[in-house]
Amino acid sequence: MSPVTVVTGGSRGIGAATVRALAARGHHVAIGYRRALHEADALARDIRADGGQAVAVRVDTTSPSDVDELFDTAASVLGPITGLVNNAGVTSPAGPLADLRVEDLRHVLDVNLLGALLCARRAARDLTEGGAIVNVSSAAATLGSPGEYVHYAAAKAGVDALTVGLAKELGPRGIRVNCVAPGTIRTDIHAVSGNPDRPDRMAEIIPLRRAGEVDDIASAIAWLLGPEAAFTTGAVLRVAGGL
Ligand code: NAP
Repeated sequence: MSPVTVVTGGSRGIGAATVRALAARGHHVAIGYRRALHEADALARDIRADGGQAVAVRVDTTSPSDVDELFDTAASVLGPITGLVNNAGVTSPAGPLADLRVEDLRHVLDVNLLGALLCARRAARDLTEGGAIVNVSSAAATLGSPGEYVHYAAAKAGVDALTVGLAKELGPRGIRVNCVAPGTIRTDIHAVSGNPDRPDRMAEIIPLRRAGEVDDIASAIAWLLGPEAAFTTGAVLRVAGGL
């Protein structure tokens, strides 16, 4: 039977690349999007045109009822859920913590940490033996991102801790929980924090001397979800070009 995987933030960036990578490996995929209906629908159509199965579902991952609806719709269209990629995430305008606004702190914590917890909680209820979760944190969780977004780094450190704890909770049920911690990857997320050129700027301090591409992360996520990672759980896999 084909794996059935929910990907949050699947409409764009790393999430969309992950949806494509999983569909190519035979997963049936539920594409969670918040605003990018057009992109999510087009991606689902492309996958179906290639003979795969995909459905696009609107979800704000900070809303427990939206998260339930995402999983309910995915299961009713695609069959019992076997995997979750907990990828939806945001940054805010960058700057030293002293200058950041409360609403930005709250939003970044809500989406990156509470949203990930709500999706993981629902997956913990639904998944059965052989199921797997891959969270997406950030190299920022250990670098701390001083002067830019320590609030985001703190939220992503929470995602790393969620990975370790939930892996231990769910291991005895045969369910694996892992995490990918990307470095700087070329997506639209940097424009939101006011740094559209960040990937080019960072390239000179990244040991591999380039920013990452979305497929660098998608392939790591797909590996962690798949059977070759059958004995891997509680791992935080850094994919950051050496930084
Ligand atoms: P992106 O291109 O900005 O895409 C973000 C995705 O998250 C979009 O699909 C967006 O949906 C979705 N999203 C945002 N808020 C949401 C909410 N409240 N509910 C549901 N979905 C929501 O970002 P990306 O760079 O691909 O980032 C993907 C993940 O990788 C994030 O967790 C990010 O923190 C992490 N990451 C990225 C980098 C990097 O350098 N790019 C580095 C480290 C970690 P809509 O399109 O519908 O708005």
